[in-house]
Amino acid sequence: MRKDEKHKTSMEKQKTSVDASIAAADTEKSVVLLLTGNGKGKTSSAFGMVMRAMGYEQRVGIVQFIKGQQLSGEELFCRSALPQGDFYQMGTGFTWDTQDRQADIKAAERTWHEASRMLSDPIYELVILDELTYMLSFGYLDEAAVLEAVKCRPDHQSVVITGRGGGTGLQDLADTVSEVKEIKHAFRAGVKARRGVDY
Ligand code: ATP
Ligand code: MG
Repeated sequence: MRKDEKHKTSMEKQKTSVDASIAAADTEKSVVLLLTGNGKGKTSSAFGMVMRAMGYEQRVGIVQFIKGQQLSGEELFCRSALPQGDFYQMGTGFTWDTQDRQADIKAAERTWHEASRMLSDPIYELVILDELTYMLSFGYLDEAAVLEAVKCRPDHQSVVITGRGGGTGLQDLADTVSEVKEIKHAFRAGVKARRGVDY
């Protein structure tokens, strides 16, 4: 009985504190989210937001940097569910596959062109820049130009950036930064990447 009472008091306290925080958050604005860290869940979280936005019939623009050789479920879905031009992939593999820095830079620039088009088009409520962080850490794209384009996006447009790393520039600009930390990954125990789960 005492346990039940204690639980009730604690929940009441928590509710008061949560209600106060909700009341204090009265700024209505779009946000920049950075999903980083070495654990699994960054790209899939970004696509979770794609689903949310699409549920409200919001227009979503998606650009995938790096990815392209491995077909993925999200690519299959986007190619059939999104209007032409709203989903763009860099179309080269990982750098350790291509091993051609100049070709990678060209591909990165081509891909960035699509991203910056979306970042200046008010039709998009949400723009996903998947694995963008690597383009900055490899020095394939100019960080200042990238930050500026994100900053100058239409007022109502939110942006999700994923990828490991992501320097202080991105972190400072982002309103929300989450680090997905690996505790365990099946791959380390020899489990093969799985359709519908990993790609
Ligand atoms: P996901 O796309 O599943 O959300 P992610 O975006 O967080 O993963 P990435 O670094 O982009 O992770 O890696 C993409 C692929 O590599 C996915 O197939 C994912 O399962 C796998 N992966 C992610 N983290 C690890 C890890 N720590 N070890 C091995 N493979 C991983
Ligand atoms: Mg990813």
